[in-house]
Amino acid sequence: MRRKCGLYKAAFKKYFPEGSLPFFASKALSYVGIYRIIADEGLGTDLVSPGELYTAQKAGFPIEKTCFHGNNKTDADIEYGVKAGIGHFVVDSEEELYALDRIAGGLGRVQNVLLRLTPGIDPHTFAAVNTGRIDSKFGSSIDTGAAERIVSEALTLKNVKLCGYHCHIGSQIFESEPFCRAAKIMLGFSRLIKEKYGYEAGIINLGGGFGVRYYDGQDEPDIDAFIREIADVINSFCAENGMKAPVIFMEPGRSIVASAGVTVYTVGSVKTIPGFRTYVSVDGGMPDNPRYALYSSKYTALIANKANLPCTEEYTVGGRCCESGDLIGEGMRMQSAKRGDILAVLVTGAYNYSMASHYNRIPKPPIVTVRDGADTLAVRRESFDDLTKNEL
Ligand SMILES: *Cc1c(COP(=O)(O)O)cnc(C)c1O
Repeated sequence: MRRKCGLYKAAFKKYFPEGSLPFFASKALSYVGIYRIIADEGLGTDLVSPGELYTAQKAGFPIEKTCFHGNNKTDADIEYGVKAGIGHFVVDSEEELYALDRIAGGLGRVQNVLLRLTPGIDPHTFAAVNTGRIDSKFGSSIDTGAAERIVSEALTLKNVKLCGYHCHIGSQIFESEPFCRAAKIMLGFSRLIKEKYGYEAGIINLGGGFGVRYYDGQDEPDIDAFIREIADVINSFCAENGMKAPVIFMEPGRSIVASAGVTVYTVGSVKTIPGFRTYVSVDGGMPDNPRYALYSSKYTALIANKANLPCTEEYTVGGRCCESGDLIGEGMRMQSAKRGDILAVLVTGAYNYSMASHYNRIPKPPIVTVRDGADTLAVRRESFDDLTKNEL
């Protein structure tokens, strides 16, 4: 995690104007300790809910280095965010814009905002994690004219200060090309607004979505080269159009935490169904990793206590829930397993703990962080009392 933070920081310093910053999209992994690590590494943080904001505050994270996202912030969320000193609200809709202006005004504040726009890009990723198209619940579309309308409205309001534009085109993107395309569309929009309204955006936030390698055959992007390619496109566009190169924000989530995570299970049963397949059941499943059930996401696993042996078996790994779809993966090649073995699933640092549920009343597992050979308990294992503590 720290190494990835360092790569983003270094590339931003090298290729983007002063003030540019990578923000960790903390919906990928949110607990008190992670905000301390991100603060320590000097990145900003994206927050998508008041719960994430509260967790960041508890960690002592500098709230002025945050972006507050979400396509439906309630009035209470907005008030909490303004009072907490959020760096930039990423405003998703006209309703939010007016609510924010009213609430900030009531508090005697002027809130910095970015407007979330949809550049109409399909980065060819899985449909459910593709958010930059016109048909999206997020943001205001450039193509339909909604984006221009919300900008023109923002420019008339007294208690919000328009600082620039945001887009997020999707997730698990392995090429810089969709980001370059998005950057050009955003800059083209900025040029149009400058010509029509005399306002030039100081900040362009290009979102997250940098791809991560989950299994053999996937190639993880080189962060430095990726950022350089995007910067080249931005710089030449600005030079050709007489624009000042804007401050750039980006929001890697998965790419910072995914590969640092390993989920460790204990094997319970190994059941062969002749002519079909062999099921290996583990003491976790969709409550700690719902991604196979949700997106058919592929993972790599091994029997950790036999890691030096050849991978001779092909298993379907099932969880412990009363649900046939509770699987961690199918056709997973690994060493031969038996009850009591340790089955490790790799690259589970993103969207596992943060998506965990209590389905079947299974307490959430602990998080142990490892640094330079030393391990630290970062999140305690939940107890049965934790499961019932709010129940009257
Ligand atoms: C989810 C999300 C991200 C992070 O996406 P990754 O694929 O984890 O990098 C960044 N920005 C916004 C607005 C998001 O919703």
